[in-house]
Amino acid sequence: MITTGQIIRCKAAVAWEAGKPLVMEEVEVAPPQKHEVRIKILFTSLCHTDVYFWEAKGQTPLFPRIFGHEAGGIVESVGEGVTDLQPGDHVLPIFTGECGDCPHCHSEESNMCDLLRINTERGGMIHDGESRFSINGKPIHHFLGTSTFSEYTVVHSGQVAKINPDAPLDKVCIVSCGLSTGLGATLNVAKPKKGQSVAIFGLGAVGLAAAEGARIAGASRIIGVDLNSQRFDQAKEFGVTEFVNPRDHDKPVQQVIAEMTNGGVDRSVECTGSVQAMIQAFECVHDGWGVAVLVGVPSKDDAFKTHPMNFLNERTLKGTFFGNYKPKTDIPGVIEKYMNKELELEKFITHTLPFSEINKAFDYMLKGESIRCIITLGA
Ligand code: NAD
Ligand code: ZN
Repeated sequence: MITTGQIIRCKAAVAWEAGKPLVMEEVEVAPPQKHEVRIKILFTSLCHTDVYFWEAKGQTPLFPRIFGHEAGGIVESVGEGVTDLQPGDHVLPIFTGECGDCPHCHSEESNMCDLLRINTERGGMIHDGESRFSINGKPIHHFLGTSTFSEYTVVHSGQVAKINPDAPLDKVCIVSCGLSTGLGATLNVAKPKKGQSVAIFGLGAVGLAAAEGARIAGASRIIGVDLNSQRFDQAKEFGVTEFVNPRDHDKPVQQVIAEMTNGGVDRSVECTGSVQAMIQAFECVHDGWGVAVLVGVPSKDDAFKTHPMNFLNERTLKGTFFGNYKPKTDIPGVIEKYMNKELELEKFITHTLPFSEINKAFDYMLKGESIRCIITLGA
């Protein structure tokens, strides 16, 4: 059946109100416009960012909306001006993009594209500000330009990574957000040398992906720090060798780690969003060469406070967004790491659900039971 240029009617899980269960609806998905691609989503997973914006406690609510940004699918059709993608391509939609033309895209060091960097407030497409989704003529907002909780979605072509068609989309879909963020924070930014020690603060999906990066880099010790000791058992499978729960100690965790490591870890990666943990992650690295990388998203009014002497003593503090990966240029290479068995993805997938039961994925995440839950569309 030729659908190119036609409106497609399909199922989508629509969030009508903040914090209320998603509702399965039949939506109309308009054809892709200039520089856009329409994708048939086969698998999606739920990430904390979806839950955060669905709860809408800390930001301006934008509803009705179709959430979802971690997914894999196949290009159905492309809009005007799209030359690097065609129907049938296997792709990952990504919440941040690469226009290829701006100073950031031209820089080898940045992935913060001027045109397509993450924008949580936008509910329409960049081209005309309009939504491509509607129900009986009423528009439904997009989320992060991806909206993958729909059997078909429309995405800017700069936010679409074309990947190896042999890669199983039900596994590699998790590469489109959390996995790459943590993995890249370690491999691209902290860059531990073989045999070095790495501390990971926060052992959620992002922290476990950072630990996977440390394992791949050949770290000798991977020290996991979390306030929730229940995370420790799971983290063993990710190569975390030692655990510190700050609540079990009377002294500051920086000091505990310094004592464990003869002066400090070589690298640390913070994946909590807590400003205390960010300060601890910086102050626990070894003087002379230690590098700390911040990944967690802080609260609005947080301030980072440390003594400037900590910098003079040759410690480095960095931060990163999407693991410094450029979505279109670099993500196909992450998929190859999985295909050649360097990167393990299966251990991140703790649950699977049919699309009709998508609300259960929210329950698993809110209870802290899941790392990643894969949702199969068309099921
Ligand atoms: P998560 O909630 O699953 O895991 C966070 C973990 O940190 C939890 O296990 C929690 O117990 C632990 N924690 C909280 N405060 C702590 C503290 N003070 N000390 C030690 N441990 C503490 O979250 P996640 O999905 O893994 O995401 C982690 C962070 O990364 C979040 O802040 C998220 O917003 C952020 N994030 C950043 C990017 C980026 O591009 N920079 C992308 C995605 C997510
Ligand atoms: Zn750009």
